[in-house]
Amino acid sequence: PAPSNSPVIKPINKGVVHRICAGQVILDLSSAVKELVENSLDSGATSIEVALKEYGEEWFQVIDNGCGISPNNFKVVALKHHTSKLADFTDLESLTTFGFRGEALSSLCALGNLTIETRTKNESVATHLTFDHSGLLIAEKKTARQIGTSVTVKKLFSNLPVRSKEFRRNIRKEYGKLISLLNAYALTAKGVRLVCSNTTGKNAKSVVLKTQGSGSLKDNIIQVFGLNTFSCLEPLSICISDGSKVEGFLSKSGQGSGRNLGDRQYFFVNGRPVDMPKVSKLVNELYKGANSRQYPIAIMNFIIPTRACDVNVSPDKRKVFFSDESSILQSLREGLQQIYSSHNANFYVNKV
Ligand code: ADP
Ligand code: MG
Repeated sequence: PAPSNSPVIKPINKGVVHRICAGQVILDLSSAVKELVENSLDSGATSIEVALKEYGEEWFQVIDNGCGISPNNFKVVALKHHTSKLADFTDLESLTTFGFRGEALSSLCALGNLTIETRTKNESVATHLTFDHSGLLIAEKKTARQIGTSVTVKKLFSNLPVRSKEFRRNIRKEYGKLISLLNAYALTAKGVRLVCSNTTGKNAKSVVLKTQGSGSLKDNIIQVFGLNTFSCLEPLSICISDGSKVEGFLSKSGQGSGRNLGDRQYFFVNGRPVDMPKVSKLVNELYKGANSRQYPIAIMNFIIPTRACDVNVSPDKRKVFFSDESSILQSLREGLQQIYSSHNANFYVNKV
């Protein structure tokens, strides 16, 4: 049979493309807030407040005391692929900031209603900025504010009907995930005060997380999880290859968290919170030999040369590639085995 007419190939409408791509950067509530918190950390803030209305369903806001955004950047700040952080491609290998792709604000514009209030040290008054869904600045007015930036997103996903429905249906779960993520930043950020509050209906706002911004991981753990939990942990330091090591804290053998798999397990690469399913599996597996009834709490920071890992793998930057993953896992296994075998010995001695 004669082939049917080949369909015409046309470009997709720009606004639609923007919305599709944005939906890959901002997957849910926690990835949205994560981007804003990371921007605040990149701006040198020492105080970051996350405020939510109806668990984030109505709006969420991230308020910081960082460097602010200067007026000559107002027009471009929310445009796709506009960033102050990455100058050229080789920079990707020596990345030290959380953001670098210039996609977060532009994506949030595409998926919700974005406004910014900001002031740098060079201005005596702040500016309130309103952006449209394509990231264009559409209104600008003066307002009062300390030095720093507040970014507000209203009605996230309201223009993606399916995701919007899912978002509202799962909001409590999304909120739980967000709190766990904020815990991760509270653990890793040194000298940054972090507060998270939520307001429902006409109730007064309730503070759900509050840290003082201490200078050490130990103090951060105590602030996030309490002294009792901290006393069940022991420090960990394992060399994994030249120039790389893992540092953190791990449950003592008889004192796991006793909760669900993966609960209170936080993994970082050079202070950046990431997902590490293989490491989590390894830690659980080895811990089982010492304590079969509970799961361990694990807070582990992989300190690795930036050229040996790539965080630019997934749009939300939660995945990492290591150039030498198998040897990292092997060294970690040996290090953990040593810790747990001494645990077992102690466990045994204590029992006898
Ligand atoms: P990226 O973080 O990848 O650069 P974003 O879209 O998240 O991209 O932000 C774009 C730019 O806006 C940043 O490079 C930064 O210059 C500026 N910016 C965003 N949030 C803040 C903030 N809280 N304080 C100061 N500058 C900010
Ligand atoms: Mg960013």
